[in-house]
Amino acid sequence: MDKPVRRLAGLVLEFWMPRRCLICQKHLEAEPGELCPACRSALSDPAQREVRTGVHFRRCLSPLRYEGELRSSFLRYKFRGHWHYSHTYALWMWECLRELEPDLRRFDCVTWTPLSLPRRLRRGYDQAQRLARGVARYSGLPLCPLLEKYRHTSPQSGTRDAAERSANVRDVYCLRRGVSVEGKRIILVDDIITTGSTLEEASRVLREAGAAEICCLTLAHA
Ligand SMILES: [Zn+2]
Repeated sequence: MDKPVRRLAGLVLEFWMPRRCLICQKHLEAEPGELCPACRSALSDPAQREVRTGVHFRRCLSPLRYEGELRSSFLRYKFRGHWHYSHTYALWMWECLRELEPDLRRFDCVTWTPLSLPRRLRRGYDQAQRLARGVARYSGLPLCPLLEKYRHTSPQSGTRDAAERSANVRDVYCLRRGVSVEGKRIILVDDIITTGSTLEEASRVLREAGAAEICCLTLAHA
């Protein structure tokens, strides 16, 4: 498209679908990007970050706290079809990864904790896969589907405590057929870390299959 046509298309789009801040939904005027200045400054606060250590994964890095308007934004992404948020979310995750893991060259690939097939078909997309795809693109690492979720579980958000959440995810993942992770260093992406039981279980499967190192990366921590 040449410039005037693109500008006209932009104006028409702006009229029908005014741009809103991806977090607080405030109308965006001339600001570039997808955030209003207030959300931009709140989200760039390094105090939002969390680095957690695990049993089967070495560390889990999360750029943001899962609360308030970020939580509402994420629920629009996960349940209300705002799948395009994944580009911005993945960029925040990538920036966090790049700063906290300076030696990124040692990693072999990016993967994610998948949804079960029935749930993916119902939702139409796998929210963690979209984040992983974005992180892979920003980092230049290959995106590798390594895990399969073969047991349907009740949603983690409906379970009560850590023990229950851990029991809920036990033995739900397996390695995809024909996949080898022997000696691989893997970045494992999920959307939110709460008790960590989902990521521990997925990491356990990868480690028991021979993976050398798992570094988890999530959008937010609860
Ligand atoms: Zn905002």
